[in-house]
Amino acid sequence: MTKPNETLIRNARLVLTMDDAGSEIPNCDILMRDGVIVEVGQGLSSAGQVLDAAGCLVTPGLVNTHHHLYQSLTRAVPGGQDALLFGWLQTLYPIWSRFGPEEMYVSAQVGLAELMLSGCTLTSDHLYLYPNGSRLDDTIAAAADIGMRFHPTRGSMSIGESDGGLPPDSLVEDERAILEDCIRVIDAHHDASDGSMCRVGVAPCSPFSVSRDLMRDAAVLARDKRVMLHTHLAENDEDIAYSLEKFGCRPGQYAQDLGWTGDDVWHAHCVKLDDQEIDLFARSGTGVAHCPCSNCRLGSGIAPVRQMRDAGVKVGLGVDGSASTDAGNLVLEARQSMLLQRVSLGADAMSAREALRIATRGGAEVLGRDDCGQIAIGKRADLAIWDMNGIEAAGNWDTAALLLAGPTQVRDLFIEGRRVVASGQITSIDLSKTIARQNAMALALSDG
Ligand SMILES: [Zn+2]
Repeated sequence: MTKPNETLIRNARLVLTMDDAGSEIPNCDILMRDGVIVEVGQGLSSAGQVLDAAGCLVTPGLVNTHHHLYQSLTRAVPGGQDALLFGWLQTLYPIWSRFGPEEMYVSAQVGLAELMLSGCTLTSDHLYLYPNGSRLDDTIAAAADIGMRFHPTRGSMSIGESDGGLPPDSLVEDERAILEDCIRVIDAHHDASDGSMCRVGVAPCSPFSVSRDLMRDAAVLARDKRVMLHTHLAENDEDIAYSLEKFGCRPGQYAQDLGWTGDDVWHAHCVKLDDQEIDLFARSGTGVAHCPCSNCRLGSGIAPVRQMRDAGVKVGLGVDGSASTDAGNLVLEARQSMLLQRVSLGADAMSAREALRIATRGGAEVLGRDDCGQIAIGKRADLAIWDMNGIEAAGNWDTAALLLAGPTQVRDLFIEGRRVVASGQITSIDLSKTIARQNAMALALSDG
């Protein structure tokens, strides 16, 4: 007799469901079948796989709403370590211009593995440069091979140095070619169905690296294709000053004028949104990818997340690219988001529970995934299992307070019901080989 395609997680110490009521269920079992959660409760049984979770906290998989996976190949580059955003970019552009398809694939896989080990089951990615024949497809292949639920976005830059832009001319593309390639990758890879493992978005890099026309055309194209829009917005003071000088308005106004608000849009950073812009985002359903470590690393400031949440803005978390303290650990990012609000507003500004909710349900809402981000019957079987028996949680009085005292890597991780991390190890690829390839590439690039 063949076993059913199901797995029972048995005897979890606590399950944080992230459902509407915020239910927390002690001594709980979860049954998954064909990629979907089919039962949650006590005393369940199964003829399929059974995994004991005694002493563990089970949460929905974490959701990462902003990343540049390719940057995992340029971490801690000396010339960029202490620079502000624009200087950091100018150090790294010449290195990135030597990347090709192989670099894109391997760096994406390293970044995705790092996310998985830190509890992430769904990530977006923002790839905005395509040197030497690189394509978005390289990262999509990397995600499929490792088993990550993936929302790649087709980024772009079109204003190079000779037109007064920041990137070198070799890294910018023709605007018509950008739009054509957006259509190509959407038609080839976008899956809008429930349980989708790949949804493509359209994502000009930032208002200062493409023209006003491309911003507008990208929004029209995305609406025509029913895909989401993403970019960087209001990241720091330089960013605001640039917007006022070049566009004669603040970033929120610029976004609104060009069709870049709505529940199919999410913006990264938004550190410098003012009261009117927060109100605009709340009213229009526009989402925010909050990247606290990146904001610290680049000295950009503290995003007004408390104010955004209170106003009703959808907020998710992003590790960002290697700007993010050069690391990509999503559960540490969640902890940082909690700490950063407390720095500006006091110890009661954000609880460990709320930060974890932002990291799971919040991210799923920003990415338009109401089939993910919570543990409930009928939702996708994306689960993170945290072993609370180890040193980091020893003496913890409140299992739900993972972000105050708990492990920073998962014991097990399920994506679409598949066990992609087992006992702390990635199951789908040979990670040590991938890391060795990445290190060899980094060495070759540093010689170049
Ligand atoms: Zn970014």
